[in-house]
Amino acid sequence: MASLDPVARPIDPELHAITAWLQRPGSNHFLVTSHVNPDGDGLASMLACGRILRRLGKQVWLVTDGFRSPRYDYLPQIDTVVSYREGLEAELPVANVITVDVPTLSRLERVARLIPRDAAILKIDHHPSDDHFGQFNYGDTAASSTAELVYRLCVDLDVPFDAALGTWLYTGIAFDTGRFRFSSTTPDALIIAGEMVRAGANPQLIAEQLFYEYRPTTLSLLASTLQSLERVLDGRVSILSLDHAVLGQARYGDEDMDGFVDYAVSLQGVEVALFLREHEPGHIRVSLRAKHDFDVRAVAELFGGGGHRKAAGVRMTGTLAEAKARLVNEIQRHLESSNERSA
Ligand code: 5GP
Ligand code: MN
Repeated sequence: MASLDPVARPIDPELHAITAWLQRPGSNHFLVTSHVNPDGDGLASMLACGRILRRLGKQVWLVTDGFRSPRYDYLPQIDTVVSYREGLEAELPVANVITVDVPTLSRLERVARLIPRDAAILKIDHHPSDDHFGQFNYGDTAASSTAELVYRLCVDLDVPFDAALGTWLYTGIAFDTGRFRFSSTTPDALIIAGEMVRAGANPQLIAEQLFYEYRPTTLSLLASTLQSLERVLDGRVSILSLDHAVLGQARYGDEDMDGFVDYAVSLQGVEVALFLREHEPGHIRVSLRAKHDFDVRAVAELFGGGGHRKAAGVRMTGTLAEAKARLVNEIQRHLESSNERSA
């Protein structure tokens, strides 16, 4: 059988500088981390970076802050990812740091405390961001996922692909493309995913574990969430919300409601969908999704959040009703100004 063409790309001097830095002898202690409440792309990219570094003879600590969903328990070596705890800074001799899927350092939350001032940082990320906080910054907003960028590192460093590495990188791509659905589902993303299946990744198992293994509590939470559906601005905006009275009862974290916002955006006629969770009284996490061309990142940024054009997030304080009103107000302004532009 003919094999897939490898992903062809020109020699990338930036990537070579990075791999040279990774390979330099001496500096052996690495912290690898991702954003708070790490998602499938973040965790998988961390684990793959761990593999790369260990092959280079480095000592590696994989640390994240916040909630980690049990849905990721199938990832090989997931137990090597440590949750931040007070006092960890005294235990880790961190000279070098790799951040994956992290547009700004504030997204590390308490893991930022583990990074000494003089540490060298390599930032690997596919989010649009002007914050080049690393000594090395490897970014490509055209990449489907951070896992795709880590794949390129593996190729450059001749790291062989096996079932574990395949499972990690396939997971990152499958997760961030919404199981090969979003506009980020590029030829490269599909070809690399194919290569990872050839290396031993099991697409059926990964899809089941990542997306189709609901706990009973998650399904009842989904039912409550769907009950909350509101449509505003002539049906152009849909809103799902969960208050703390409901959320406080669930043993699940934010990550397990991750796909819920998709129901809001799938509604006919909707251009922008919001999902608000009051995870603590007065503290609200918001997911924003756009169909078509609306830029939800621009709205999220107005309130201190960020993300991508079509999928963004922000944290807000106040009541659910206040947060909704502020968001809908801004969305209306943006919809009106885009109407004017196209008029
Ligand atoms: P989600 O809605 O799935 O949590 O996040 C969608 C996108 O927005 C992801 O790229 C995520 O990293 C980003 N995002 C979510 N919450 C925040 C936030 O509070 N601040 C920033 N800067 N980005 C966020
Ligand atoms: Mn990502």
